Amino acid sequence: MSVEPRAELAPNETPGLVCAHHHLYSALARGMPAPPGVPENFLEILHLVWWRLDMALDEDTIEWSAKLGALEALQRGCTAIIDHHESPNAIDGSLSIIADACAEIGVRVNCSYGVTDRHGPDGAAAGLAENDRFLSNGGRGMVGLHAAFTCSDETIAAAAELADRHGVGVHVHVAEGDRDTWEQLRGHTRDNWWLIHGVHLPDDHGLSGTIVHNPRSNMNNAVGYAAPQRFENPIALGTDGIGADMLDEFRVAFVAARAHEVTTTPDDVWSWLQAGAGLFPEVVDDRVAWDYAPMDPWRLAYSPGVSPQQVTIEGEIVWEQGRSTRIDADEVKAKAAEAATRLFRRLDDTPRFFH
Ligand SMILES: [Zn+2]
Repeated sequence: MSVEPRAELAPNETPGLVCAHHHLYSALARGMPAPPGVPENFLEILHLVWWRLDMALDEDTIEWSAKLGALEALQRGCTAIIDHHESPNAIDGSLSIIADACAEIGVRVNCSYGVTDRHGPDGAAAGLAENDRFLSNGGRGMVGLHAAFTCSDETIAAAAELADRHGVGVHVHVAEGDRDTWEQLRGHTRDNWWLIHGVHLPDDHGLSGTIVHNPRSNMNNAVGYAAPQRFENPIALGTDGIGADMLDEFRVAFVAARAHEVTTTPDDVWSWLQAGAGLFPEVVDDRVAWDYAPMDPWRLAYSPGVSPQQVTIEGEIVWEQGRSTRIDADEVKAKAAEAATRLFRRLDDTPRFFH
């Protein structure tokens, strides 16, 4: 879906870009110590890297990773983030920490807590409660589910019911690896669901919702190519936590699509980038002025290094001449680096082997 801006765009301008799937908590992961073993497949990557990292998160590291991630989004002309969060040892209040951090930087965010049964029924209940608490207090978000393969049927039904009650969709990883039990979602999905990856979904999967394609992450985890153009669902573009440089993700998505089907056009892939505005319609009135013109998908597909000169969100200039107008970016980076050091120390206390 393409949403047209109300005001005319200059040749070097675009609306605000949207990262349709992010994990702001992963902003501090760069530089983390090597895992205790070399992961050889996607499940081992989850066990040895991400499920150790999320267990080590506390309120402080959630806050600084969100601020750093939001700042880096703004720096690349991304004015809205659809975030999926998990911090099993700091669940209660975590979505508000992320929303407040993004508000301070000036970036729009849609928050959800990824409910899972990996930490037992109490963990699942706490995740559901956090989504409910955040949405009940007027927070902008969806109900998060980690993925069907870590959730019972009861937990999936509870998340779907909670989302319905709040009039929002469910934000869930779907068929990222070949071991996901995505069929559990059948009968629950709706058009407002946010289905992440879909790499191993059959063409006739029957799930409703927007499928969010994350090509760089899929390559990084060697899970395969999603070939999103084969689906009837709307397609949006995310990073799965590897920053929020959406022009870069567009270029990766384009070349990955071309490797699969050489008739794919930059316009096809640009439409995926624009689809993020389906959940954030107000970004069409955000303005990003770039150091390049014209901002045409055919040129951008082959132009590296295009950068924002000015970013305006809701009429406020929040980024100009390489700097945030609101906060001291150097201080955010310094505090985030300190938080990362503490986080890496806590990683030593997390389980080192498969359970
Ligand atoms: Zn993800």
